[in-house]
Amino acid sequence: MVRDVVIVGGGTAGWMTATYLKSAFGERVSVTLVESGNVATVGVGEATFSTIRHFFDYLGLAERDWMPHCNATYKLAIKFENWSAPGSSFYHPFERLRVADGFTLADWWLKLGEKQFDQDCFVLPMMCEAKRAPKRLDGELFERALHDGGERHRRTTMSEQDTQFPYAYQFDAAMLAGFLAEHGTRQGIHRVLDDVVDVGKDEHGRIAHLVTKEHGEIRGDLFVDCTGFRGLLINKQLGEPFESYHEYLPNDRAVALQIPVDVEREGIRPYTTATAMDAGWIWTIPLYHRNGTGYVYSSEFCDAPEAERTLREFAGPAARDVTANHIRMRVGRNRNSWVGNCVAIGLSSGFVEPLESTGIFFIQYAVEQLVKHFPDSRWDEALTRSYNRSINRCLDGVRDFLVLHYRCAGRTDTPYWKAAKERPVPPGVAERLDTWAARLPDDGSVYPYYHGFEPYSYNIMLLGLGGHLPRHHRAALDLLDDADARQQFDLVRRQADALVDQLPSQYEYLTSMR
Ligand code: FAD
Repeated sequence: MVRDVVIVGGGTAGWMTATYLKSAFGERVSVTLVESGNVATVGVGEATFSTIRHFFDYLGLAERDWMPHCNATYKLAIKFENWSAPGSSFYHPFERLRVADGFTLADWWLKLGEKQFDQDCFVLPMMCEAKRAPKRLDGELFERALHDGGERHRRTTMSEQDTQFPYAYQFDAAMLAGFLAEHGTRQGIHRVLDDVVDVGKDEHGRIAHLVTKEHGEIRGDLFVDCTGFRGLLINKQLGEPFESYHEYLPNDRAVALQIPVDVEREGIRPYTTATAMDAGWIWTIPLYHRNGTGYVYSSEFCDAPEAERTLREFAGPAARDVTANHIRMRVGRNRNSWVGNCVAIGLSSGFVEPLESTGIFFIQYAVEQLVKHFPDSRWDEALTRSYNRSINRCLDGVRDFLVLHYRCAGRTDTPYWKAAKERPVPPGVAERLDTWAARLPDDGSVYPYYHGFEPYSYNIMLLGLGGHLPRHHRAALDLLDDADARQQFDLVRRQADALVDQLPSQYEYLTSMR
């Protein structure tokens, strides 16, 4: 049996992997985590995806157990600013589209829409604008408030959010790694502070042990590489090639700042903002005590001093005394993230720019898949191939979804945005774009394997980005009665107003949790 798991790396990936495996297998598997005191973690990674909720549930941690320790906030959406044109904005909420007469409200909106599609089709954008928490002060989720109001709507999907939760979190990633480290060591994870300098291999070329600076050899059955962009085990020791996405996604640098904020005075926005700039985009992530902000850009179009200047100008005087963190990004994925008895998780496995906050989602997906594919002493290669297929598809799917963001953005006003329209696209994307010029995306026309994003997200992005809209609404809608759809739009508006009235502000809710 595989009894001894050894993880190298104590960033978010290392500690999420260690604690998840410990929760899954308890005493039946021993988990050792080796982390360097000399090599820093990447130091960013704060906004998450809505499936993250399942990770904390799996560990048995309630929100009040961990959120205050990580300065965490709720995230209901991403707000995209300046993507269709300077001054424009729209929300990508964690909310599925409602359906009227077999067609989504996005389809109906193309025929009937009046205002802005996100506010017409979803309740979350209004809650974002009003800085609302997704829960009442007694802890009950907002969806219950809709039903309690007696407004049970027909053929809608609001109550089907149990696999994709209607919110995610934003948190201080370093504090989360620290919190999980404490939680994990209490559960029996063996923590070693040391540098891994080499590995010893067995006769099959598998890793037999790590060689550390001060603790000698550390033996194990399964080794997990969580060493970040270095890929110490998977790339450097085992030689597995890394396949870059650069030709499709050219952003390869970031500069980040942590900005103090008076949350009592300013409140806390329950969303991440992605603001398009001349050579990339800037994230703004509100936490309980500060905002995280960073410029993701392409070094072909902007150098580091100019990027830092742009970010500081964007952030204003509050950023004056704050030190900038410049980061080189390795964008792409390993040909295989599981090789022999080594599995890479986190940045050592693959990464795409954080435009849809998927870094921590990839970690969670990888460790869930690792448990499902957990090996025994036969080391069945079909199992390894199946794991690698799932991971590769997940990353490739998100890559394709991000390519759409650039390809379909209305902006063409700088060399960077012009080039975004001329760059090659990954296989299959041109055909999908061709279909979407005639009709909005659905199950049959989006990337076909699990990658976290459902057709509703593609609908939102196409309608919000504005540069690749269907030429016409679906002809079938002209042959249907639009009364049901009109009722649904009206219901969205009334429900959004009621929620803004009934729910506490995010600041009030999180303060009451402390
Ligand atoms: P790291 O944080 O780099 O940790 C590597 C670990 O390996 C460290 O503990 C280090 O000490 C250890 N190590 C290295 N070498 C050795 C050695 N020889 N011996 C022992 N230990 C060693 N994700 C999101 O979900 N949301 C976001 O908003 C987001 N924003 C991001 C913005 C940027 C600019 C970047 C680059 C990433 C972002 N990510 C985001 C991704 C997220 O940061 C990572 O997925 C996450 O932090 C995991 O990092 P990691 O643990 O894989 O690597």
